[in-house]
Amino acid sequence: MKDQIRFIDLEAQQKHIRPKIDAAINKVLNHGQYIMGPEVSLLETQLAKYVGVKHCVSVSSGTDALLLALMAYGIGPGDAVFTTPFTFFATAEVISLLGATPVFVDIDPQTFNIDPQKLEEALKSFDKPLTPKGIIAVDLFGLPADYDEINAIARKYDLFVVEDAAQAFGAKYKGRIAGSLADVATTSFFPAKPLGCYGDGGAIFTDDDELADIYRSIRVHGKGKDKYDNIRVGVNGRLDTLQAAILIEKLNIYPEEFALRQKVAEHYSNCLIDSAEGGFKIIPPIVKDGYVSAWAQYSICCENRDELQTYLKSVGIPSMIYYVTPLHLLGVMKYLGGQIGDFPVAERTSQSILSLPFYPYLSPGIQDRVLSGCSV
Ligand SMILES: *Cc1c(COP(=O)(O)O)cnc(C)c1O
Repeated sequence: MKDQIRFIDLEAQQKHIRPKIDAAINKVLNHGQYIMGPEVSLLETQLAKYVGVKHCVSVSSGTDALLLALMAYGIGPGDAVFTTPFTFFATAEVISLLGATPVFVDIDPQTFNIDPQKLEEALKSFDKPLTPKGIIAVDLFGLPADYDEINAIARKYDLFVVEDAAQAFGAKYKGRIAGSLADVATTSFFPAKPLGCYGDGGAIFTDDDELADIYRSIRVHGKGKDKYDNIRVGVNGRLDTLQAAILIEKLNIYPEEFALRQKVAEHYSNCLIDSAEGGFKIIPPIVKDGYVSAWAQYSICCENRDELQTYLKSVGIPSMIYYVTPLHLLGVMKYLGGQIGDFPVAERTSQSILSLPFYPYLSPGIQDRVLSGCSV
C-alpha cells in the first residue's frame, strides 16, 4: 500500500528537530520561568531581526495580535476599519469585537488580496456615519498584499495600516520582509502556519516605540510600572515561555524550510502550467515579479472545483477550501447588511479556490501523485 498523503505533515518537521525541541523544553522545565521567561525576549529579538523591524512583541495568538494592534489605536464604536472579505474570520472579528465596523473591499482576482483601486474607490465614496480609521490588509496564503499602493492610499486618507501576516511570515515584497510592510504587522504561530509552535502563539511587529510600549502594557492587563499598576484596560495576552523555546528552534531552521517551500511550489506550478489543458482546467497561483510567497497554502483555481475535490478524494489526495464563505456572507456578519453580489471577485474565488497538500518536507513522490491527480 502507498503512503497516505497528508494535507500538512507536522510530524515530518518534528522528526528533524525533535532532540533540540526536547532540550529546549527541558531547559524551561529546569528554570521554571513559565511566564515571560528568558526565551520570550530572546525570541522577540530574533524575530524582530529576521523581519527587519525595531520591535517584536510576542502574544498569545494571531488573533490577539490583531486585537492589540487595534486596541493600541483606540479603535471602538463609531470607527470604520477597511479590510478584505476573503480571509480567515479573525481578521474582521477583532474589528467587531471592539465595537467598530468592518468595511469590506473586494479582492484582486489574481492575488486574492485586497484590491488597492477598489480600496481607494470605497474610501472616496464612503458616506456612512462612521469615521474611517484604518486598514487591515491580509497577506493571503502567504503572498503579501500590494503595500506601496495601500500605504499611499492610507497616507492620503490619514489611516493606519495593519499587515495581517498570519500566513506570510518571511514572505517578501520588493526586497522587504512580510511583517515590516505597514505601520504595524501581526503574525500567528498556530501549528499549521508557516512558522508554527506547538499550541497558540502570535506576534506584533512595528518600528514605532510608543505603539510597542502600548502593546507590552495591553498584553499584561494594561500594566504601567508593573502588573499591579494598571493604567489601561488590557488583556492576558502573553506567549508562553515553552512556546517561545519551541519557536526559537523552529526559527533556526526556518530559512531552510522557506527554501524548500519555494521548491515544492515551483515544481507544482511548472507541472500544473504544463497540464493546463487537462480535463480540469486548473489555474496555478500567480506570484508577480517582486513578490515571494511563504506558501501557507498552495491554492489553485478551478471552475469545476467541487468535482475536482471529489475526484482527488477518491484517489486519496486530501484538499481544503479556504474560504468557503466570504466574510460578508457569514451569519455572524449579517448585521452589516452584506448581500450576495456585493463582492463578486471574493464570491467567485470562494467557489473556485482549492488548496492542495503542501509542506516543506513533501517528498518528490508524493508531489507527483498530487500532480497526476490534478492532470487527468
Ligand atoms: C490564522 C489566522 C489568524 C489568526 O491566528 P490565530 O493564531 O489562529 O489566532 C488571523 N488572520 C489570518 C489571515 C489567519 O490565517
